[in-house]
Amino acid sequence: MRLEFSDPFHSGGVWLRGNLHAHSTASDGVHTPQEVVDLYGSKGYDFLSITDHGRVTDPSPLDPKGLVLIPGQEISVGRSEAGTTLHVVGVGFMEGLSMRDFDLRGDPQAAIDTIRSRGGVAILAHPYWSGLNHSDMTRLTDYHGVEIYNSNCEIYNGAGDSRPHVDGLLAAGRRTLVFAADDHHGTPAPMKPLDAGISWIAVKAEEPTPEAILSSVFSGLFYSSNGPEIKEINIEDGVIVARTSPVKSIGFIAAPSLGSKYWATEGTISEATHAIRKGETYVRVEATDERGRTAWSNPIYVSEK
Ligand SMILES: [Zn+2]
Ligand SMILES: [Zn+2]
Repeated sequence: MRLEFSDPFHSGGVWLRGNLHAHSTASDGVHTPQEVVDLYGSKGYDFLSITDHGRVTDPSPLDPKGLVLIPGQEISVGRSEAGTTLHVVGVGFMEGLSMRDFDLRGDPQAAIDTIRSRGGVAILAHPYWSGLNHSDMTRLTDYHGVEIYNSNCEIYNGAGDSRPHVDGLLAAGRRTLVFAADDHHGTPAPMKPLDAGISWIAVKAEEPTPEAILSSVFSGLFYSSNGPEIKEINIEDGVIVARTSPVKSIGFIAAPSLGSKYWATEGTISEATHAIRKGETYVRVEATDERGRTAWSNPIYVSEK
């Protein structure tokens, strides 16, 4: 049995926390680019990408407030089987994509390919909120990752949790990184908390620079969270040990039909162990606390031999 895992827990560098999906007044957000930066700076984040729709908002004139600012863009392009638009987030390039936003006849694969050709990270945004199905996601190739959780889609529409979409891809043998992001817009509305500082990725990077952070993101040296901390994942002789901050449950997700989950019968737990079972082609670690907040690891891939 061979296990492949981009392991941020035993690699060198520093942990940096950031959000790779946010909007400003340059598209449909309510905060100016500087206000978005101020907001994430005040929440103790280390890096941020403002990913306005259809354009790159240049971060260089902004006061970074201690954040590493990484340029990016979101593009809504093409049509799913349900007739909805696909959204692709690209991070790590300055030249905007030369395609029209909200062009239903556009090609999302071309957006992904262009993001890659510019050296960016291509992320399929909020598949649950978008109404994407499995074939929408498998007909596209070469995206680096999928948003497993999107704060804005959860707060406004209750459709932020895309775990089954991710597991559908992984069960089909596709490899993908998983990202949690805020998709901050800041639109005030009754009974809706501010969609900022809720979800993040924690990246192990050599240094707090855009290049080092992106390099670690490309390599999968991060995990996602909207609350709990994954302190360590140890893999030895086909056994995975996950250590976390105190949580209610720790799951080893290996859909379909396999995997396992462990629960605190009282109080909390902070460690669980899973021995890889026959037939498991991947395992993701998830830890959920008493408030329902979750941390998601990137997948550990299992192959015979
Ligand atoms: Zn979107
Ligand atoms: Zn967005």
